Amino acid sequence: MRVFKGSFTQQEPIPQEAIEAATEVMRSGRLHRYNTAPGETAEAALLEAEYAAYQGAKYCLACTSGGATMAFALRAAGVAPGEAVLTNAFTLAPVPGAIAAVGARPVFVETTDNLTIDLDDLAAKAQSSGASILLLSHMRGHLVDMDALAKVLADHNITLIEDCAHTMGATWNGTKSGNFGLAGCFSTQTYKHMNSGEGGFLTSDDPAFMARAIMLSGSYMLYERHGAAPPAEAFTDARLNTPNMSARMDNLRAAILRPQLRTLDSAIARWNARYQAVEAVLKGTPGVKVPVRPREEFYVGSSFQFLAPGISEAAANALLAGCAARGVELKWFGAKDPVGFTSNHQSWRYVDPQALPQTDRVLAGLFDMRLPLTFSVEDCELIAAIIKEELERVLQPA
Ligand SMILES: *Cc1c(COP(=O)(O)O)cnc(C)c1O
Repeated sequence: MRVFKGSFTQQEPIPQEAIEAATEVMRSGRLHRYNTAPGETAEAALLEAEYAAYQGAKYCLACTSGGATMAFALRAAGVAPGEAVLTNAFTLAPVPGAIAAVGARPVFVETTDNLTIDLDDLAAKAQSSGASILLLSHMRGHLVDMDALAKVLADHNITLIEDCAHTMGATWNGTKSGNFGLAGCFSTQTYKHMNSGEGGFLTSDDPAFMARAIMLSGSYMLYERHGAAPPAEAFTDARLNTPNMSARMDNLRAAILRPQLRTLDSAIARWNARYQAVEAVLKGTPGVKVPVRPREEFYVGSSFQFLAPGISEAAANALLAGCAARGVELKWFGAKDPVGFTSNHQSWRYVDPQALPQTDRVLAGLFDMRLPLTFSVEDCELIAAIIKEELERVLQPA
């Protein structure tokens, strides 16, 4: 029996150029973004300008985490304590966490078999909750039909904030994810598309919103030393009316990220080659459904999902165990108890319990794995072959 020997949590090393840039920052001792020598522009400010250019957004703010950018976005958008905020039922814990951070109430929207937000349920819940904001998680990199979404948002007068933790570099009909609404939120945490350990970007074209976000991030009165900030006039109102919630990115992390941004597009091409190698094998497996990738979507295949609709708990556990014994670490979203990074809406007990039968049904058959770039395309073919064999074994009619 063939066995896989790689590690699903091993990312590539930080590039040499980034290590040298980081070493330079450490030698200088000027790690704080506002600690600069005369005439020097901080690494954090340079990174903001470069990410804004990559994203095609007017403004960019670098923060300490993706979760921080979402909480700042919600607060800068005017979300008040107690207010309902629409979001996906299928997402990662920092998303409802960001809503809770501003004292608001997540209203979860159902999930389709393609792992995207259900637009009919969104319309229904927009109506029933009276929410004015959707914090949309492009969970695991699956973009909903953004044209159909725009119509629902317009019909219900809803402002969009995008969680692009898994779609940095992805596009819909040529427009980058993160550019469809008021703001885009990105993460540079180790398992995302750029790696600074922790970190995040908030992007927007709205000057007053961005001025509030920059003040929230803890800019004191040094907002003119940002790399992609609105002009000083935009801060007239925000500068004395916005609390400082200290979550600035430092120059060390910025130095590590700048060289990675330059190779992001080639990293995306490498991820997609790996994704497509897995997809080619699993697509034809009986009993298995691989998410459809619409023609309008350019995705980043940094992780892979498949569904075994209707799989029993015993068979799911047998699949996890069979794969694990052969070195393939699958995650299952149907587990009763949250494991590792994987949890679902039932484990967020600070939120009012909500009935989400469709999402529960989808998650009960949903399996997931990372595809780090330390895997070769051949590794991915082997992983997929192992999953296919184990699936055939556990799904065999008794
Ligand atoms: C990682 C992630 C985030 C942000 O995470 P941080 O660890 O706070 O940077 C947000 N949404 C999703 C879906 C994520 O996977």
